[in-house]
Amino acid sequence: MPEPIETTALYIGGKWVDPHSTQVLEVHSPATGDKVGSVPSADATDVDAAVRAARESFDSGVWRNTPPAQRAAVIRRAADLINERGDEIGALVSAEMGATPGDVATLQQLAGTGCLSAYADAADEYTWEEKRTGLFGETLVVREPVGVVGAIIAWNVPLFLFCNKFGPALAAGCSIVLKPAPETPLNANLLAEIFTEAGVPEGVISIVPGGVETGQALVDHPDVDKITFTGSTAAGRTIAARCGDQLKRCSLELGGKSAAIVLDDADIAASAPMLVFSGILNSGQACVAQTRVLVPRDKQDEVVEAMVAVASTFTPGMPDDPDTKVGPIINAKQHEKVTGYIEKGKAEGATAVLEVPAPEVGTGNFVGPTIFTGVTNDMTIAREEIFGPVISVIAYDTLDEAIAIANDSDYGLAGSVWTADVDKGVEVAKQIRTGTMGINWYAIDPSSPFGGYKKSGIGRENGREGLESYLEHKAILMPMGYTS
Ligand code: NAD
Repeated sequence: MPEPIETTALYIGGKWVDPHSTQVLEVHSPATGDKVGSVPSADATDVDAAVRAARESFDSGVWRNTPPAQRAAVIRRAADLINERGDEIGALVSAEMGATPGDVATLQQLAGTGCLSAYADAADEYTWEEKRTGLFGETLVVREPVGVVGAIIAWNVPLFLFCNKFGPALAAGCSIVLKPAPETPLNANLLAEIFTEAGVPEGVISIVPGGVETGQALVDHPDVDKITFTGSTAAGRTIAARCGDQLKRCSLELGGKSAAIVLDDADIAASAPMLVFSGILNSGQACVAQTRVLVPRDKQDEVVEAMVAVASTFTPGMPDDPDTKVGPIINAKQHEKVTGYIEKGKAEGATAVLEVPAPEVGTGNFVGPTIFTGVTNDMTIAREEIFGPVISVIAYDTLDEAIAIANDSDYGLAGSVWTADVDKGVEVAKQIRTGTMGINWYAIDPSSPFGGYKKSGIGRENGREGLESYLEHKAILMPMGYTS
């Protein structure tokens, strides 16, 4: 483990400044427990300083009046710099949240920089102004940045989430204050510095590390025009209520309990590796994890056998071990929650057909891939987000029943259909009340809308729709009889 990164300043408005707060946030490796570093934990006064810097920079026009193509160029430069420093950033993210460096590179760096490029493209292609001929003649419709953005993110894919907040806010011309999760603040400071190096002017970007209180100070600040939140449904509900009280714009990316629907014509051998990966990626700590696998009853044994064979090879272990495919759970509390769900699954009558033993190394926060059969959709393990490498296989008799089971969830974030008939897969996908679906695999496409139905969230990220969620639409009515 390299020397801990002890940071004593806050990155406010693109500069390092002394904090008002005397509280310190320590970061420890989920794998070894070793100290990774520390940062000041921003208090309400620090949040106010960051928001004031954002407000002043926004009102000055230094970024919002920069032409969209130039903003896009800065975002692309930031993506290039992140890729150039990928090993350094990947090692830090891995140390903070425990994923293997390989998983950080694919699930976070590739996905994050892909989003940045897609937002830059969206800004280049977007119709920022348009003339419309309406009832009274000509109207000019202009799109303007929403203002000062407060972003609050989770720890599970921090590099990706950072890019998915900074990208659209900066493409739109907003100023942004980001609160990273208390588990993963160090990479946010590094990434913010990279955006400054890429050309974001002074005042526009700030990082306020901290926990719930820091987040609440950001949500409640009267000079924040929009909150963008990625995290649990429980916290999202509280944040949305506080935003509602202030009539503040708010978009929410929340939890999931997605279904992978295996149709009776699916190529089971070919599907099994991706089916398993889609369920336990990032040690199952993924909002889009397909943790309910719905299978035709007469194919159940065949599917389960193939999945067990694959999942058995997903070795849990230390992130820096090249044989490791499943890193640790983020902390002891979360580990206890995941193992508690496994016990609850057994107690409610499901059968654990696979429980890869956890290695007794480091902090011990490891859970091996676990597959349950005999699960019904009313069981706790089928209804609640476990956030660990636990898959529930649910048998169905008819396609209508499979669709009903998939839809019988509080959540609606992701999902997939596995079939030899792509058209049929699309028809089934259209019947699932969820924001994204994949046919024979699953991924988040940076250029296409991503977000939740039901309790998985409000609003969309990525591509044009993601950019639009950081914009206001203004109509300027021209004089009667006026033609341009
Ligand atoms: P969490 O809700 O506990 O915390 C997320 C962030 O919100 C943290 O920065 C936390 O400090 C802050 N926070 C918590 N309560 C707050 C409050 N009342 N006011 C202001 N800030 C508050 O979630 P977590 O455990 O860090 O992350 C896991 C959750 O995130 C899972 O439910 C997962 O599905 C979800 N997630 C969703 C997406 C998505 O895109 N839909 C992506 C990643 C993670």
